[in-house]
Amino acid sequence: MNAMSYKVKDTVYAFPGRQFDCYSYLLLEDIKILIDPGTGFFFAELADALDNIGIPINSIDAIVNTHCHFDHIGANHLFDCPVYARSPDLQAISSKGSKMVLADMFNSEYIPVAAKEIPHNFHSWEVLNTPGHTPGSISLYSKKKQILISGDTLFPYGTGRTDLPGGDKNALKQSLQLLGSLNYKILLSGHGMRLPGE
Ligand SMILES: [Zn+2]
Repeated sequence: MNAMSYKVKDTVYAFPGRQFDCYSYLLLEDIKILIDPGTGFFFAELADALDNIGIPINSIDAIVNTHCHFDHIGANHLFDCPVYARSPDLQAISSKGSKMVLADMFNSEYIPVAAKEIPHNFHSWEVLNTPGHTPGSISLYSKKKQILISGDTLFPYGTGRTDLPGGDKNALKQSLQLLGSLNYKILLSGHGMRLPGE
């Protein structure tokens, strides 16, 4: 382990976000998948952290966005690989000036990328609809690994806010019920994680 990344499992690495940046996660499947690359303000640091575990950042094969907020998607355009997300966040990620992205909150401008609809099974992960924080929020679940990647829907010590554009309290409640029914030991959220024994 080094200061910039955590090895969660042989095939799963975590990169804690700096300042208000989200956590990024690397899934080593048959391809290399990066979940939520962050604002892009710390792209060089993320590249260093990936280099430290022997993964050049330009070897990433796919980006997945758990939802359309700038602290998760700002760096999308810095990658030369497909970006996956779920509608309607997908449309915000693919277009300029969507207020759902919240670029203004980060005093920045979002550079759109052409994102693709993520399938319900993405490599060895199940992709769940978990709206509420945003309408197109997703979570990734591996029953086999007992890992849940929850974006900003569920945190180790709390739940996602619903007061931003597209937020929906009732939808979040249902999403949390769905996540509560899953069998996982490791929670990898958009802002923090809970590992076994913590
Ligand atoms: Zn968010």
